[in-house]
Amino acid sequence: MKVWEIIITGCGTSHGNPPWGYPALWSDDLRDRRRRSGGILRGPRGQVVLIDVGPDLVWQLRDPFVRWDGRSYPQDSVVSCDAVLLTHDHADHCNGINDLRHLNRLMKGRSIPMYGHPEHLSVVEASFPYCFGNREEAYALGSPAIIGMPMVSGATSSIAGLEVTAVRMSHGPAGHTTGFRCGGLGYLTDLKQLPDESAERLLHLDLLVLDMLREEPHPTHLCWAEAQEIIARLAPRRTVLTHMGHEIRYRDWEHRLPAGVTMAVDGLRCPFTAQEA
Ligand SMILES: [Zn+2]
Ligand SMILES: [Zn+2]
Repeated sequence: MKVWEIIITGCGTSHGNPPWGYPALWSDDLRDRRRRSGGILRGPRGQVVLIDVGPDLVWQLRDPFVRWDGRSYPQDSVVSCDAVLLTHDHADHCNGINDLRHLNRLMKGRSIPMYGHPEHLSVVEASFPYCFGNREEAYALGSPAIIGMPMVSGATSSIAGLEVTAVRMSHGPAGHTTGFRCGGLGYLTDLKQLPDESAERLLHLDLLVLDMLREEPHPTHLCWAEAQEIIARLAPRRTVLTHMGHEIRYRDWEHRLPAGVTMAVDGLRCPFTAQEA
């Protein structure tokens, strides 16, 4: 067993938090300042696997731990990428794709495989066709060089030495999304229901990173009561909540969560164990 870590580079909902233009919804607590959701998996040999490439990607790559002073050279920046895992094709998860070109550049033109469900990949490829063309030509033009790697639900692939299993989830009327099991980590965002056959693949987790939008029910995301049901079904050792709306204020929630459940903040890092493939 090897120890990997996930960095939660963003734990906010689709518009980012807190929303401007509504002074009453503002929060003065920096823990409520959330980028669009995403993560970085880092392996013991320096492997880097991104989960989603949302609109805040450039900040997430430059300053993954949210501790850069904004003036000095950002020592923590991400300068390589072995693969991307795509949960689905919504804008808050894929509209930062263009910023992958800087990683291609830093890797001297090496292309980046993007693993995802064939339906989501085809939407992203149709929206950003210039990112998926001829690799050498793309690099010469300064475009991202990405290779779509279709991964159907239930499939397991070895990605940068990590065994990754894709599981199908319902996003309510918004369609379906892909959850990922990577060794002892389960990363489940943008879900409304978890089918039984997917839940079976997510037992005995060290760490569950789970969508929890707000207290009130929502058509496409888990509310707190639904998140609790999933935590009870999967019984992970630890759960970290993500994709939170502005309604979820750290100060109000940190003391009401049960043992083993915490809220993410941008830049949070958590270890998990993985069988290296
Ligand atoms: Zn989302
Ligand atoms: Zn979504």
